[in-house]
Amino acid sequence: MSKIVHRSLRGTLPFAVSAQGVHITDHEGKQYIDASGGAAVSCLGHQHPDVLAAMHAQIDTVAYAHTSFFTTQVAEDLADTLVANAPAGIGHVYLVSGGSEAIEAALKMARQYFVETGEPDRSVFIARRQSYHGNTLGALAVGGNEWRRKQFAPILIDVGRVSPCYAYRDQLATETPEQYSERLAQELEATIAEIGAKRVIAFVAETVVGATLGAVPPTPGYFKRVREICDRHGILLIADEVMCGMGRTGTLHAVEQEGIAPDLMAIAKGLGGGYQPIGAVLASTKIVDAFRKGSGLFQHGHTYIGHPVAAAAALAVQKVIARDKLLDQVKARGAYFEKKLRATFGNHPNVGDIRGRGLFWGVELVEDRATKKPFDAALKLHAKVKAAAMQAGLMCYPMGGTIDGERGDHVLLAPPFIISEAALDQVVERLATAIESGTRALKH
Ligand code: PLP
Repeated sequence: MSKIVHRSLRGTLPFAVSAQGVHITDHEGKQYIDASGGAAVSCLGHQHPDVLAAMHAQIDTVAYAHTSFFTTQVAEDLADTLVANAPAGIGHVYLVSGGSEAIEAALKMARQYFVETGEPDRSVFIARRQSYHGNTLGALAVGGNEWRRKQFAPILIDVGRVSPCYAYRDQLATETPEQYSERLAQELEATIAEIGAKRVIAFVAETVVGATLGAVPPTPGYFKRVREICDRHGILLIADEVMCGMGRTGTLHAVEQEGIAPDLMAIAKGLGGGYQPIGAVLASTKIVDAFRKGSGLFQHGHTYIGHPVAAAAALAVQKVIARDKLLDQVKARGAYFEKKLRATFGNHPNVGDIRGRGLFWGVELVEDRATKKPFDAALKLHAKVKAAAMQAGLMCYPMGGTIDGERGDHVLLAPPFIISEAALDQVVERLATAIESGTRALKH
């Protein structure tokens, strides 16, 4: 019996013994195509020689130096690169070790900003239902999955809730996508008014919703209206791009496609491509200036912030993406993937929706395509599809259905940016087998 808590909870899993490119091989020699990048992490695939070389070189130079005493060239270079490519107004980077830490730090930065600028009564965040922002207490508090939070109540932060932007389920037949965006904007306005605009710190949302809904992009104009409402009330906008960011949707940041810039943005996963645990908060100059003019510094800090080997891995990942023009490849391969997914599942009786951007796709599974009726959550279709996919040699990321009203099992797909068209063909074939076998298991 494994002594690792997460393993003993999850039962028996294969051992990963080697990995190369888009494949991972287990202890029995079975090869899996990594069509989920783990959890939208492995953007360059596995064992990329340039990233490994950069990590080795850094280990041989300075493997660790605490940030109270030293900075390192590699952490400075990474920060410069991230700022140079960031949305307008972002002037600073705070390096952390993962996505939850990035969200946690962003929430604290937003709170401290208003303390520094003389508005300490702003103490409430607004976030969306059916959202995931991480598993630390602050991140759980803003996350919209009640089932994840309830055993930890009372949780630290007060959070107002609005609806997710989820057109497949919630856009009315009588509405255009733009009208649906407007309805959601008005709901946000009303929620702000109910809480009191001067009490709200920030609105927190994933630009393209990953794990909880399955690669759901916003409807046209949604984020423009959100930005405009936040600005009018002096409320900050925090974009969670932990999963959808760093090239996954075809632009470095998903907000670029919305034509807006957030005040704070959390990134992680693809930042280090899985080679090292690393995340970051991209912070606007206005926020960091307020700290500098006020108490002097952001009141935070973890032992491993700015870890040199993690920074080396992330910097190498960013250099490879730029050198090999991988954002263009994400767009091209993404278009190919979309075409294959629609050709294979477009008329499938149990596929209700196919949506996504770049190499970030979601396939929503339903019992009845016409009525969009989901499968009963208790049947755990997602778990059956995952088991069948692993059987077929496919890593994908199925998530559960109706808990908390998520309404629909879905499969999230986030393959490495370097994946070939032939490998994408295999992904779609194996996914078809897994969905067939998962849904068949429910019928017997
Ligand atoms: N935010 C989003 C949107 C995520 O998808 C995740 C992880 O899946 C997190 C935050 C938390 O990141 P981590 O698991 O690295 O702590």
